Amino acid sequence: MLEIRDLDVRYARTHAVKSANLDIKEGEIVTVLGANGAGKTSLLRALQGAVKPAGGKIRFAGEDITHMSPADRVRRGMMLVPEGRQIFVSMTVHENLLMGAYLRQDGDWVRDLKEVYERFPNLANRRDMKASTLSGGEQQMLAIGRALVSRPRLVMLDEPSLGLSPLFVNNLFELITQLNRDGITILLVEQNTGMALEVAARGYVLELGSVVLSGTSTDLSQNSALAEAYLGGG
Ligand code: ATP
Repeated sequence: MLEIRDLDVRYARTHAVKSANLDIKEGEIVTVLGANGAGKTSLLRALQGAVKPAGGKIRFAGEDITHMSPADRVRRGMMLVPEGRQIFVSMTVHENLLMGAYLRQDGDWVRDLKEVYERFPNLANRRDMKASTLSGGEQQMLAIGRALVSRPRLVMLDEPSLGLSPLFVNNLFELITQLNRDGITILLVEQNTGMALEVAARGYVLELGSVVLSGTSTDLSQNSALAEAYLGGG
């Protein structure tokens, strides 16, 4: 579904993603792991269309999208839930969810919005409250709910567990598994390596912009170099 070939992302002084190759098949959960500054967010921003790659190709559902606008990517079913959620805190829960429907050209978003409220009763109960009044976990649900209103085929999550309490982290990973069962392909960027490898079938490890390891989650969780770097001991 998503093919990333020799992707390069450069900023003025930094080569943030170096000739990266990744594949995500329809229906999979794939995780991208790596330390701070490894290039994970830069990779996602190139997939979203927010930064222009310095080189390489991105194909989504058989189509070359390397130079497509972010809006056209959303219309094709690619949706990013950004790091730090980036919800509109001075708007209500409902207004935030409506933003997810912004690019929909059909009227079916009304049904999708209803489904989001059914999936997240906490959001339904707080429909008219300002998003700033939600807890961190609820704000993450709102960010994911907003993405779901666009009826995505691929959801890309940038460190969704960051700053959440352990209970919310468990709920979040349960939700990711559920969304995947409902037919959504997931690209999960995480620093919570243990949990990410539990829900994902496969993973890639980025280091200083390069893919240094890839494999099934079972293989990666048994990899001693990865264990030492990210899982707290070999
Ligand atoms: P984090 O977990 O901290 O978000 P990351 O793995 O997502 O890290 P990136 O944010 O993609 O990594 O950063 C990769 C490199 O690119 C870092 O060296 C970072 O300083 C640099 N970088 C990121 N964004 C920019 C930018 N807008 N301008 C210049 N350099 C940037």
